[in-house]
Order: sequence, then C-alpha cells, then structure tokens
Amino acid sequence: MALDVQMTAMGKAKGLLRLRCPACWQGAMFAHPLKMNELCPHCNYQFDKGNGYFVGAMYSSYTLSLGVSVAVAALLWWLGWSPWAIVAACSAAVVLVGPALVFPYSRVLWVWVEREGWLHDGTEDNATLRRNYLAQRGEGGPSDKQPKA
Ligand SMILES: [Zn+2]
Repeated sequence: MALDVQMTAMGKAKGLLRLRCPACWQGAMFAHPLKMNELCPHCNYQFDKGNGYFVGAMYSSYTLSLGVSVAVAALLWWLGWSPWAIVAACSAAVVLVGPALVFPYSRVLWVWVEREGWLHDGTEDNATLRRNYLAQRGEGGPSDKQPKA
C-alpha cells in the first residue's frame, strides 16, 4: 500500500478539517473529538510516539486559539460590542469552548508538522523518529524500527 499519495494543498486542508491522519489523509485520527486513535485505521501510522510527544501540540493549540480569538474579536467589534465585552467574550471562548474545539486540530497539526520533519534539529531522538518514519515509507534501511517496550 502506498502511504504517501501526492496530496494537493487543498486535499491536505480538507484532511486537516476532517481530522484525518497526516500520513495518508484518509483514516480518521479521532474516534470522537476527545478520543484519539492509537493507530491510523487506514495506514496503521502510529500517532503517539511516546511520553511527551504531544507536549509540542501546545504550540499549535496556542496558535489556533489565538486565531479563533482574533476572529471572534473582529466579528464582535464589527457587531459594535464594547472593548471590555469583547475581551470577556474572547476569554470565555478560549477558556470554556476553545480546548474542546482546538484540541483535535492541534494534534493533527502537530503530527503533520512533526512528521514532515520541519522541526527536526538533528538530535538522536529526532533522528530515530525520522528513521522510523522512513522505514514506514519503505525508504529506510532493513527493518530499523524500534521494538515495542
Ligand atoms: Zn493514515
């Protein structure tokens, strides 16, 4: 099975909006909004790479929350709300509604960014991740996957 189908930017955007696996953009990454699948049901890509892997998703979560806040603030400003009411509404939205909406998207974004290798800095851990990724694609050396602990 070919894991890396050439995907257009629009296809990736649709996959992201539909919370699809960043490896194949076909399988659902989430069973429901707060329960992530361990493996992609389509290509068996392992989403969680171990303890602390999703700490980095806080960066994408923060970025998404900021984007949502700015969009909500702009809408309320356009509707004529007072600045303090806008601050209160945005704070409430970010604290109460944001995590449930942003959480799954932040994880899909994080897996995608990490998988693409944009953040790799050449340390051993990242090199291992990259080697495993290449082995999954069939481009690595002979079976250099890590054994399950
Ligand atoms: Zn997949």
